[in-house]
Amino acid sequence: MSGLRPAIAAHRGGAREAVENSLAAFRYAAGLGVEQVEFDVHRTADGALVVLHDATLERTTTGRGPVGALRLDELRSLRLRDAPAETVPTLEEVLELLAPTPIGLRIEIKPGPGLARYAGIEAQLVEALRRFGLLERTVVTSFLLPVLVDAARAGAPSRLWLVAPLVQASLGTAEALARHAREAEVGELGLHIDHLDTAWVLALRTAGLEVGAWAAHEDEQIDKALALDLTVFTTDRPRAALARRAARLAGAPADR
Ligand code: FE
Repeated sequence: MSGLRPAIAAHRGGAREAVENSLAAFRYAAGLGVEQVEFDVHRTADGALVVLHDATLERTTTGRGPVGALRLDELRSLRLRDAPAETVPTLEEVLELLAPTPIGLRIEIKPGPGLARYAGIEAQLVEALRRFGLLERTVVTSFLLPVLVDAARAGAPSRLWLVAPLVQASLGTAEALARHAREAEVGELGLHIDHLDTAWVLALRTAGLEVGAWAAHEDEQIDKALALDLTVFTTDRPRAALARRAARLAGAPADR
């Protein structure tokens, strides 16, 4: 992993430059040389961890209904809508693909429909990461603090709290966010790029937290993320973000 800051995380493998959460996207992100790759996990009816974003199948696959209603063999008979040669990847396939690379993994534990948690998924994920020797190279993320508490109990060494804009607004201050993070033993936050500025970043860092951004997809959002004192940001356009960071470091005006 390079020591460049902020680090760049290919969101869902780089969802605007490749087909989100597909093996092709993870190969693409690995080839770009980004510092991290982000992806989401759900669980099938028979307990297999699989990589896709939504709790339901309609948007990205040829299937219907909740991911958790299908067995793995049923899920694997589906196709990705935007990559018909591929099906929904298993967690193991993605770990196998990324293990030989130097890339950091940023794995989001998703709830099912209605934010219903998959009981015990945290320990199951940690076990798989350990088996592939990837536990130390992974940050587990969630919008739900109880998921991160259970991930800590299961032995995940680093956890990042994705702060939804509504949560940020209702808690209101960096101190309040930091208190919740501390109670859940989380050392790193991710905030929506449009809800961050230098004052928020400074206040959160002063409170002892690592700060990153998510959803920096447009050029202006990427440039904003690059200009703030962030640890990392996620983007659907990792190639564009790498180019803009390189141009910035070279002191040249960045453009497409
Ligand atoms: Fe995600």
